[in-house]
Amino acid sequence: MDLHLAAAEPTAGERSAVDAVLDGVVPAAAGSELQDAARGGRIELGGARARRGVRHQLLPALHGVQDAIGWISPAALGYICRRLDVPPAEAYGVATFYALLATEERPPRVAHVCDDIVCRNAGGAEICRRLQQRLGPAHEAAGASHPSPPAAGGARATWMTSPCLGLCEHAPAVLLQLAGDRDAALAPAGADEVCAALAAGDGGSPGPAPAAEPVPASPPAAVRSSAPQADRAATAAELTLLRRVGTVAPESLDDYRRHGGYAALRRAFELGPEGVLRELDESGLVGRGGAAFPTAKKWQAVAHAAARPHYVVCNADESEPGTFKDRVVMEQDPYAVLEALTIAGFATGATQGYLYVRGEYPAATERLQVALARARARGLLGGDILGTGVTFDIDLRRGAGAYICGEETALFNSLEGFRGEPRSKPPYPTEVGLFGKPTVVNNVETLVNLLPILLAGGRAYAAQGTAQSTGTKLFCLSGAVAVPGVYEVEFGVTLRQLLELAGGTVGGTPRAVLLGGAAGSFVGPEHLDVPLTFEDTRRIGSTLGSGVVMPFAPNTDFPDIVRRIARFFRDESCGQCVPCRVGTARQEESLARLCGNGAGAERALLGDLAQVMGDASICALGHTAATALQSALALGLLE
Ligand code: SF4
Repeated sequence: MDLHLAAAEPTAGERSAVDAVLDGVVPAAAGSELQDAARGGRIELGGARARRGVRHQLLPALHGVQDAIGWISPAALGYICRRLDVPPAEAYGVATFYALLATEERPPRVAHVCDDIVCRNAGGAEICRRLQQRLGPAHEAAGASHPSPPAAGGARATWMTSPCLGLCEHAPAVLLQLAGDRDAALAPAGADEVCAALAAGDGGSPGPAPAAEPVPASPPAAVRSSAPQADRAATAAELTLLRRVGTVAPESLDDYRRHGGYAALRRAFELGPEGVLRELDESGLVGRGGAAFPTAKKWQAVAHAAARPHYVVCNADESEPGTFKDRVVMEQDPYAVLEALTIAGFATGATQGYLYVRGEYPAATERLQVALARARARGLLGGDILGTGVTFDIDLRRGAGAYICGEETALFNSLEGFRGEPRSKPPYPTEVGLFGKPTVVNNVETLVNLLPILLAGGRAYAAQGTAQSTGTKLFCLSGAVAVPGVYEVEFGVTLRQLLELAGGTVGGTPRAVLLGGAAGSFVGPEHLDVPLTFEDTRRIGSTLGSGVVMPFAPNTDFPDIVRRIARFFRDESCGQCVPCRVGTARQEESLARLCGNGAGAERALLGDLAQVMGDASICALGHTAATALQSALALGLLE
């Protein structure tokens, strides 16, 4: 594709969308030299001038245009490049990396319909069918194997299929991306409701926005069992991580404080940074994102690193299919996330934190933005927190639809304004992380564990659970279960007990349970009594992963489910390394042949592909792209 960005002039709307993001953030002088150069139709950039300072505003600026106009034209991209001193080819590479950004013109109202493993059988397929009748075939983005032609004839709405939107407990889910208006999620969504929302802006009227919070909260399903004998009568008072969910007014700082908010931060200030690190170490907390790395080790490494500045990053890019616990915490208890990240900054010597929120989570983003503004106004963020002289602030950044950005180094690249491609490790983020500096990165669930650790003490926290899996864990239950939702249980509760807490399975004993999401594995009913701990799930060859527990009834169309997982990995591979880029595509093709005619040779090929991807890929996406499929083969689910 020829890029002639310098020659094109942005419209007034595009210009003001970019300026609204960058004015006050990027010095007005930035890019002026380039604008001069651009008059000749050519931009030459390089060296320190181009690398300095402002490139990390690239994704926010792209979001600004996408949100206002509905797509990013070459002229708008060129204007962003001039303001940020970013080479046009690189900016184009970034803009085309993300599923929620469009670089070809398309209708301004877009419904992203989840057709992933839960939603497809819970009404998602029917919504797709109805939208196809009404609006024609699903829109395919530029870069897809059969991209849709640029929008013509003034069409106002279109639809696309989407990977998991993180609303599995309310399936089926739809994300509405509305140019000039707020994005909104609908769940459970109905085809008529989606059509009405898409039609609302016809005739030039902006139309009524979808309800501010169309997604109901999950508190009825937030239950904690304090002992392996599950207590169905557990109350909110017994919850730890979810204790405020459903009981606190999410946007009210006063209510948060009435419910114990900011007591942990005060305790952190009393203990000092080393005291916080000591409590964390004694708690035995390990990361909840899947890798289960000891959190204290990470924090200590950054706190004691000589290089400055230090950064802390909250990874809220929760994209693993079947996972929605972090979303529930962010929507229902947003100040807890801010308080925990502030403690992380204090303990590790960072004065700047970043909160990278999944682009498909508009309600969580809004809640956090409100919470950030109120915390700043009340001196809980900024230059002199609670009068202690401690400086710390948080910048919220939105992802834009890329599963791989949940990988920590890909997330750094995304924050810095590059394509969200993972970096080779080592060096690890604790040495060379965001902007090349020592960085702590934790997900939402890991971070909010800090609050009970500091309030109860690390040793008391470690008394819960098992020796190697301390504390409580949030699990995301969906699929063939009576009451889907987020459940908090102490480590050591069995899979069977957890399913009972959720009202039991639908359709009798499940044929299989997917643990850990698309990157996890299926386990058979013979493992229903496995204790849910890191060590016990490892022992049976599975994983807790991100906390997904998804039972499937005996009559499930498993080939369809597993093929959807294979398509997910093919779509989400960043393409940087050959084993994963080619392996995920060949895996999907081979699986289609296997399901079509049961050819025996395909099993051997799938095994070889799994081995190569596991051994030679750069990051965890490639390492885990075959695990669910291989476990399904081992259980005979595809026969
Ligand atoms: Fe990208 Fe896949 Fe390689 Fe990870 S393993 S870097 S997702 S191509």
